[in-house]
Amino acid sequence: MLTTTAAFRHESIPAARQATASLAASTGEFSLTATEDLSTLSADNLRAYDVVMFALTSGELPLSAGQKTALLDFVTSGHGFIGVHSATDTLYEWSDYGRLVGAYLRDHPWTQQGTVVVEDPSHPAAAGIGDRFSLVEDFYTLQENPRGRVQVLLRLDAASVGSTGDYPLAWAQSFGAGRAYYNALGHFSETWGDTRFQRQLAGAIRWTGSR
Ligand SMILES: [Zn+2]
Repeated sequence: MLTTTAAFRHESIPAARQATASLAASTGEFSLTATEDLSTLSADNLRAYDVVMFALTSGELPLSAGQKTALLDFVTSGHGFIGVHSATDTLYEWSDYGRLVGAYLRDHPWTQQGTVVVEDPSHPAAAGIGDRFSLVEDFYTLQENPRGRVQVLLRLDAASVGSTGDYPLAWAQSFGAGRAYYNALGHFSETWGDTRFQRQLAGAIRWTGSR
């Protein structure tokens, strides 16, 4: 779990790390290394892991060409990648990362209560949370709609924020022999403490860590 920032830094980062560590303990299904040390992203070190999560990262993280290749090879060879919230506000200048995370942030016009529609409750990363739920979040719009390239799991009910249009909020995709997942929620510490969000994360870790 990488929470390194090179631009905006969310106040929820400590809550994110704590919630994910608690999930590891309560599910007993995975162990967690949380770090901000980018040097840990190397081919050698990644051999010990099943999934890499970019949580609340931001900006142009200073990764070397070798590190970029190591991350792409890690996923395409059959491992997992998870991006959370501002993971789409990260590494705009590396287009392969854009494919991996699925899209880039355009704007965040709605920091308020909104309703989220669960599009596929049969997916492990969207199961057990009902078919819609409401929460206060920093809802993103994206530079390009990834629908069609990815399997959308959640979308914003645009009417709930007084708008129209299609705004995917979470998705899953195959990436080579590996799996990638993204969830746009996670701005507030409260979201990380929300069992509906935690259930999605646990499912995403399970799903991306399988092959
Ligand atoms: Zn945010």
